[in-house]
Amino acid sequence: MKAILKFIAASTLVATALPASAALKVFACEPEWGALARELAGDKVSVYSATTAMQDPHHIEARPSLIARVRSADLLICTGAELEIGWLPLLLTQSGNANIQQGAPGYFEASQYVPKLEVPKVLDRSLGDIHPGGNPHIHTDPRNIAKVAQALTDRLAQLDPADAETFRSRGKAFLERWQTAIGRWEREAAPLRGVPIVEHHKGFTYLEAWLGLKEVGTLEPIPGIPPTPSHLAQLVDQMQRAPAKVIVYSSYDDPKAAEFLSARTKIPAVMLPFTVGGSDKARDLFGYFDDLVARLLGSVK
Ligand SMILES: [Zn+2]
Repeated sequence: MKAILKFIAASTLVATALPASAALKVFACEPEWGALARELAGDKVSVYSATTAMQDPHHIEARPSLIARVRSADLLICTGAELEIGWLPLLLTQSGNANIQQGAPGYFEASQYVPKLEVPKVLDRSLGDIHPGGNPHIHTDPRNIAKVAQALTDRLAQLDPADAETFRSRGKAFLERWQTAIGRWEREAAPLRGVPIVEHHKGFTYLEAWLGLKEVGTLEPIPGIPPTPSHLAQLVDQMQRAPAKVIVYSSYDDPKAAEFLSARTKIPAVMLPFTVGGSDKARDLFGYFDDLVARLLGSVK
């Protein structure tokens, strides 16, 4: 009996004491943050992404499988700015994991490290209720990715001091490659400056601000409200008077409204990957922006 108890005690110890080199378990709310963690930490992290580029990140079901993933996570990386307000709070409370609660070192909100756009001066729910703290889709501007990368490098080093040097050198190398890529994307995208664009949801606002695209309308009457026949009729009328050059929808949007407007106005409709994994070419963060720029350039030729 004693021997059995000893054995149980020993195996419990083995199971709970992590070897020093164990990978940090990262729970990413969106694929772009999972991809960034992989860039910065390589095999020092194991990454689970709660959502894909084919899902609307505002509306995710807090499934038991997600709760289980949060329960075992060492680091939770989410966008914040209320993007996940409909599902993340439930995952956090149900997980019972103190290490990744708001305010703990294992809780990281990317939007805290960048200036936000479309922050309302007064909270007015009649303008829609899914962007109340400003536009949360910060990942569509690569300069924001760079800011988040710096903050995330620090956080990884704090959580796993033994590997801090690895994170710092990988972070530095990533930022050098990233700045070079930003320069290239900006040169390639120069013809997009001032181009009028209609988007389905205000999902690419930061991309538009970065490249100087001019948003002249959205298919949703207000953020989070699906396109209505009367709003689309108004847009058809507006496009006949002052046409946009391109209509964009994301990899998770229903393309019907974009196709409807395109058919009536002869303005091309183009799908943009919403994030990493949203198209064949968007396999990582570099491929994501390569593809965004290429698709936009292809549509306004
Ligand atoms: Zn949104």
